[in-house]
Amino acid sequence: MKGVERRLLGLLPRRVLVALGVLAAAQGVLMVVAAGLLAEAVAGLDAGLLPWLVAAVAGRAVLAWVSSLVAGRAAAEVKRGLREALLRGEAPDAGARVTLLTRGLDAVDPFFAGYVPQLLAACVMPPLVVARLVAADWASAVVVLVTLPLVPVFGVLVGMRTAALTGRQWASLHRLGGHFRDVVAGLSTLRAFGRTGHQSGVVRALAEEHRRATTGALRIAFLSSLVLELVCALSVALVAVPVGLRLLEGGMGLSTGLLVLVLTPEAYLPLRALGARFHASAEGVAAAEEAFGVLDAPPAPSGGRAVVGEGVPEIVLDRVTVRYPGADGAALEEVSLRIAAGERVAVTGPSGAGKSTLLLVVAGLVRPVSGRVLVDGVDLADMDAVAWRRRLGWVPQRPHLFAASVADNIRLGDPGAGLDRVVEAARAAVADGFVAGMSQGYATVLGEGGAGVSAGQRQRLAVARAYLAGGPVMLLDEPTARLDVRSERALVEGAARLLEGRTALLVAHRPALLSLAGRVVRLEGGRVEVPVGLREGKAA
Ligand code: ADP
Ligand code: MG
Repeated sequence: MKGVERRLLGLLPRRVLVALGVLAAAQGVLMVVAAGLLAEAVAGLDAGLLPWLVAAVAGRAVLAWVSSLVAGRAAAEVKRGLREALLRGEAPDAGARVTLLTRGLDAVDPFFAGYVPQLLAACVMPPLVVARLVAADWASAVVVLVTLPLVPVFGVLVGMRTAALTGRQWASLHRLGGHFRDVVAGLSTLRAFGRTGHQSGVVRALAEEHRRATTGALRIAFLSSLVLELVCALSVALVAVPVGLRLLEGGMGLSTGLLVLVLTPEAYLPLRALGARFHASAEGVAAAEEAFGVLDAPPAPSGGRAVVGEGVPEIVLDRVTVRYPGADGAALEEVSLRIAAGERVAVTGPSGAGKSTLLLVVAGLVRPVSGRVLVDGVDLADMDAVAWRRRLGWVPQRPHLFAASVADNIRLGDPGAGLDRVVEAARAAVADGFVAGMSQGYATVLGEGGAGVSAGQRQRLAVARAYLAGGPVMLLDEPTARLDVRSERALVEGAARLLEGRTALLVAHRPALLSLAGRVVRLEGGRVEVPVGLREGKAA
């Protein structure tokens, strides 16, 4: 059993586990009793035993129902607990959490409702049956005892092979998906260069590889159940044939023989079913693994309660190193930087240099593995994260707009703001002109994801948002990338007003935006290169 499964099992309250175990044992006992009654009734042609037989079978069914009820409730309880923990958690990965919270965690149902009861049955039933067989006919009991371990052994062997094949299948599916996305994104370019024929060949080859992997995995899956069936059938035959011969020779009573024949398959059944249940629960185990991963992730810095003044702060990065989980190298390595109060520092560097990461660190959204960020001398890690974020204005590289009115989109910076302040912010961000030109002005409702505004307008709305938020610290992440010259000029004009009298860090490439900065720092591969002085900073 993997660690995840053990941990998942550990989430079940002990009393539920005990209850399920007792129920499984009671079902086993009833099964053995029913087999005995059946053998007696048939051998003795005794109809008087039939009501008892019916009662035993019915009792077993009722117990199975109660057991599934208990397991289902426990599953719901565990899911609720996990969801609460995920909701409460400060884990930074919002995307993964949403999937888990909504649909993902329901996948653990088969684990609790199917796999766990079956696991208990597999623990309880074979010993019960073997014990009864020892009492009835020890020779048969020995055969069962010897062949019983073959089922799990073959199951594990086949399972390992299936896991390897399924892994290959997943890998090829990922490759196919990634390649397909690239091709679709670059379709117009490919057409222009007459390379569509080649690409369809590549997609066909990848699809063929995926098809082969899938059918391979399916073949193994079907073969595996066949192998297990065969092992069980042969084992039962090993018991049945001698019993038949001894019945013929009169070396064994009919009722004993019947009892052995009825009981023997029941010893293998739970083990065989366990394999199927295990496969059915695999998705849930994967979902649980993901949930545990999110829960175990180091919490997003929530910080302490240190309070600093509300003025325009000085920000100092002291040998900050950031490493993303799963990444090889460091995104930022020993970056030291001092941004004086009211200073505007531009960050340049090639893509992947760590510019966005630098801004995220200052925003307190990514925690460095070593080094410190000091705000007016106070470590960011000791500060109240919510209060700090309230003092920040943030214009991301690709700001998100919501399917709401333009005014509400700007109001995200300060939900309580009246329309006059919204208009003022838009004016400062040079967004007023195009908003006024829209069909219903500030009341115009944008499409899903902000459809209906251009990239430049989107950036200016984000600047207006930051303006309305009005904190003393501004973080701008390449706000003019992909803008035409006119939009750029408008945005820079708006940004200039936004940055006035504030401490600012802006990621910039183009000269227009760089002109707003007092100093330029160049990042390369997560390290600060020799600073290039454009002009003297206000307080370097
Ligand atoms: P820039 O903004 O300069 O293009 P980033 O700060 O976005 O660079 O990224 C710096 C490095 O960190 C890159 O190598 C990037 O691949 C990696 N990186 C960025 N975000 C993540 C993330 N969430 N998880 C893992 N690696 C990341
Ligand atoms: Mg970036």
